[in-house]
Amino acid sequence: MQLIGHEAIVQRFVRALHGGQLHHGWLLYGRQGVGKHTLAQYLAQHYICESRQACGSCHGCRMFMAGSHPDVCHCAPLEGKRDLAIDQIREVLGFLALSGSESERRVVVMDDVDRMNIQAANALLKSLEEPAPGSLLLIVCHDLMRLPATLRSRCMLTPCAPLDQSQTVQVLQAMGISENCLPLAQQLADGCPGRMACMLDDALAEALVEWQQLTHDAAAADIGAVEQWLRRYVRMTPHALMAEMVIRSHQPKLMEKCSLAHYRAVDEALTALARWPGEVLRHSLRAAPTFLALFLALRLAVRQSGA
Ligand SMILES: [Zn+2]
Repeated sequence: MQLIGHEAIVQRFVRALHGGQLHHGWLLYGRQGVGKHTLAQYLAQHYICESRQACGSCHGCRMFMAGSHPDVCHCAPLEGKRDLAIDQIREVLGFLALSGSESERRVVVMDDVDRMNIQAANALLKSLEEPAPGSLLLIVCHDLMRLPATLRSRCMLTPCAPLDQSQTVQVLQAMGISENCLPLAQQLADGCPGRMACMLDDALAEALVEWQQLTHDAAAADIGAVEQWLRRYVRMTPHALMAEMVIRSHQPKLMEKCSLAHYRAVDEALTALARWPGEVLRHSLRAAPTFLALFLALRLAVRQSGA
């Protein structure tokens, strides 16, 4: 497998692996879409590879790439479930306690570990305190602070920084984002290309490009066209992305041009937009009219500010 970015982490891991000093619990954390899962997979392949370099051609690598290596386990919240269940953690612990069937090594990649309740966290803690020989846990989470301090303190904390511009473009291209959507995808990805996977859907990608044009200047926007867009696309578009696009278009202008009094009004309107996706979900609000009301409030605030 190929990995773009995160070279420093890979180097540190490989150095420790070859030096026989690998920590048994690596906690990879960072923003959604930055590539933590891919990185964890890449490190797992290094660990399981017969020459310890993810060579891609040894028996271990081939089984790994086919997803059938008996000493590799993948654990994530089940579809439709909110949390990682304690039973899943127990399975992982049981797996790690066995000795490896292909070698002396076993590795578990655990995704979305911040979606884990306290019982599950305590169970996991045990295996970090008393690791089985040859076992490696690669733990992936978005929000480090949602994990108990006891768990964090027993892991090798590994922050995954956003990718740079050229790496971001490389990943987006490798994902298959079309050339005409690439500039917008790059801008929105903000170093976390994985979050733009929604743009692989052509209809949605086109809708987002149109949304950008329609809403980049609330003061001058064609409200009728915005309303029409909402009617057609609001259901299929991630709400967080819609709100974020509007906020990003307006925030820099705001910083440059507003007086303090006006700044506050526009900032409040943008804050309300940032809260909108959560409010829609929590209170089952109708997305289109509530968005439109907030967008009109932003339009008014921007017009009054003269920004
Ligand atoms: Zn190999």
